Amino acid sequence: MLFDTHAHLDGEEFDESREEIIAKFRESGVSLMLNAGASLEGSINGAELAKKHGFIYASVGIHPEYAGNVPEDYLKTLKKLATENKKVVAIGEIGLDYHYEPYDAAAQKKLFKEQCELARELKLPIIVHSRDAYADTLEIIKQFPDLKKVIHCFSGNLENAKELVALGCYISFTGVITFKNAKKFVDILRFMPKDRLFFETDCPYLAPEPVRGTVNDPNNVRYIVRHAAETIGEDYESLAVRTTENAKEFFGIK
Ligand SMILES: [Zn+2]
Ligand SMILES: [Zn+2]
Repeated sequence: MLFDTHAHLDGEEFDESREEIIAKFRESGVSLMLNAGASLEGSINGAELAKKHGFIYASVGIHPEYAGNVPEDYLKTLKKLATENKKVVAIGEIGLDYHYEPYDAAAQKKLFKEQCELARELKLPIIVHSRDAYADTLEIIKQFPDLKKVIHCFSGNLENAKELVALGCYISFTGVITFKNAKKFVDILRFMPKDRLFFETDCPYLAPEPVRGTVNDPNNVRYIVRHAAETIGEDYESLAVRTTENAKEFFGIK
């Protein structure tokens, strides 16, 4: 019973393999998946995919990399998607990414805040992407204390994790925790309150060990959960069930 809480299965790299990958879910223990929107087109396609499969849900949102390059009425489109399709359960992924130069911090903040306002209006949780932008991300999420938030693909340190948990955030971990140079995650995973974490592949990126370097897909979420279970000394099955329940509750999935 696994929930891949953040996958980009809408991308065209999966056009030939998508249904084949989904057909393997049962065998690899995946019972739920959320397709995270990153662009307007991806959000539309992800919402369609969710309509097609009972166990697939979707979030809709614009990733910070598109800041300054979004149609003027994008909020209207997102709102329409989120209100007309019951399988759309969150706004995301949204946030800040200062990793690649040049970036327009002001445009990213505007895009992030506008989508937080939309989530507030629609009473939906948000999926936050934050890369090399911790301080500014924190400043904005503090302005929305009423929103349920998950920090996806967590890449910060133990202090950051503590601060985010104290603010009421959930934290979601990818296959990065399985990488050999990822020693910091031992302390972070051991610190995480049992009811505040869940897991994701963020596919097609970040394939976990032992399949690192391949095109990632939701069937690999088991490797991430298994690694986390070994790290914190918990039984794999119980961690899988518990974190799936955490994510179901977060996204309001019955
Ligand atoms: Zn992301
Ligand atoms: Zn993502």
